[in-house]
Amino acid sequence: MLGSGQTLVFSPKALKVFEKYRQISRSQPESGGLLFAKFDMPVIKIDIATPPQPEDRKSRFLFVSNPDTRRTIVRRYFRKGLHFIGEWHTHPQSEPTPSGLDVNSMKELFRQSVHELNYFVMVIIGNRTDNLSLWVSLHDATDMYQLSPCGSTDQSCNLTFAALRYRILGKYVGQESKSIK
Ligand SMILES: [Zn+2]
Repeated sequence: MLGSGQTLVFSPKALKVFEKYRQISRSQPESGGLLFAKFDMPVIKIDIATPPQPEDRKSRFLFVSNPDTRRTIVRRYFRKGLHFIGEWHTHPQSEPTPSGLDVNSMKELFRQSVHELNYFVMVIIGNRTDNLSLWVSLHDATDMYQLSPCGSTDQSCNLTFAALRYRILGKYVGQESKSIK
């Protein structure tokens, strides 16, 4: 998104949800939910991360959102001017990386959803306790592009917990020229 000039930003509200559902204890299942964005070009702000729903499939190594529940939630937020832009889920890994299943389900989600976006966003939350470790990538029907974090003033990426809590931005800019919208 560097070439496109677009920036993906997480609201403090969304980051709090990520923080809350991290798989810290051994017994915790994977959690996940939907991401909803506001477009204030060139800034795409992920405003809402919805919590896991009772109908979702959850285990230690798997999270699959329920399609019917997903449709209902997508409609509800669309009426509030928020656009479905992808999904988040947790991994029991300190530096999370997507599984083959994750990549395939994002392809499916992109193909099957009604939208006008070039890419959907996938966020995977790691289980570090000293920091919020995130995997962030863009997906279309065939490809995946990982985004890298940047700080508000430099590329040092010092996204400490305190900073995430008190700063408005958790910014991600990709190395490639990709525009979400
Ligand atoms: Zn996964």
